[in-house]
Amino acid sequence: METPTMMTIQLPGGWLLRHGQKTCGGPAELAWNGKTVLRDFQCRFDALTDAAFAVRTVRFFRKGGQGVASSEGQVNPLTGNALRQITRYGANAARVTWDVAWRKDTAAKIGVEIGSATLVGVWRRVLVIPDFAAWANGQTAQWHDLQPGKTLVISPIPLAVVGERDDGVQVEFSMGFDVWRWQRGLGDFGPGSSQVAFTVNDQDVTFQRQILRGGEDVVPAAREYRFCSQIAWRAPAPAAPAAFPPAAPLAFQADGNGLAALPAAGSDGVLSFALDFAAMPVAPSARRDDGSGLPCWESNVTQRAARRAIRQIAAAGATGFLRLDGLTPGRCQDGSHCDRKHGAAHWDLQGILTFAAWARQCLGDGWTMTAPQPHDPWLLLPSLADPLAVTGFRTSTDEE
Ligand SMILES: [Zn+2]
Repeated sequence: METPTMMTIQLPGGWLLRHGQKTCGGPAELAWNGKTVLRDFQCRFDALTDAAFAVRTVRFFRKGGQGVASSEGQVNPLTGNALRQITRYGANAARVTWDVAWRKDTAAKIGVEIGSATLVGVWRRVLVIPDFAAWANGQTAQWHDLQPGKTLVISPIPLAVVGERDDGVQVEFSMGFDVWRWQRGLGDFGPGSSQVAFTVNDQDVTFQRQILRGGEDVVPAAREYRFCSQIAWRAPAPAAPAAFPPAAPLAFQADGNGLAALPAAGSDGVLSFALDFAAMPVAPSARRDDGSGLPCWESNVTQRAARRAIRQIAAAGATGFLRLDGLTPGRCQDGSHCDRKHGAAHWDLQGILTFAAWARQCLGDGWTMTAPQPHDPWLLLPSLADPLAVTGFRTSTDEE
């Protein structure tokens, strides 16, 4: 696998990524302790994968404490469908954005896959967090066993799937905030036109995420389609969480003007705080419309209020301990949170991960932080295992 054309990215906890330096998409490989976990995270237009596209640009850089891989390519350099992928890596999760430019009068005969991959080794089961509509109807997350030689199919594409290998390694493929885009896909081609499938082979599992199952007469409208998603990974026995000194609870001011005065450090001079975002006062228009009344993390109002609180904590010291509660996803259809005029189905896992990455960057690596989850299925999602982890991507030239 290691050739001069591969870019290697080291991650905390013995994880390693490889990206083709002259190919679209990726990563080509995710490995843990020297053994491959995942190969060829890729998109596919009919028979052609993005690694075979004509490449326009490939760039790797660091920004905001994250490692960024960006690429653009085209099926045919002049006339074919085009794809742009931006991948933002944190410690154990990446946020992926795809822009698919579909050409006029182009059929999807076999279909279109985004963020498919090969899972290497023996994978025993898959956790499924159902699609938005099923979740709203009360369906809960469920484990499905994988059977040798069989294919597990779930349609429509669920909010998240987590594969578990026989050694306990887990990989998550989850939907970005833009549920309504995934629901719409590349057009209305009827029920069952999108799905995920896990096919169990001898040495690996083929994971396919089909945003459009094709056919001779399946011709998406010519335009650009955007889809956001996350991929995350977790070792079987994650490092034990750091011991926290007793924490002083922080309180929001009722008038929405940030935190009340922060308590002084204890007699040992150590800062240790706990903050619950469920108690953050934000306008009703910034809350989820699912009846919970909790702030929606896709709302700019929520993000601004939460970032203000983190800046106040950062001003208190360069080191300390911080426990953040309330960083738990929920569903919402208030379109204003996504710059939509009308209702738009979304969930806010992505907003939580974006905020967590920003908070780590703002507070610096001197703070020991945790964001515990209250219950399943959120305890089971690798992306939420340690979203505030030190990434190793901080640079002295980073902007805030
Ligand atoms: Zn919302």
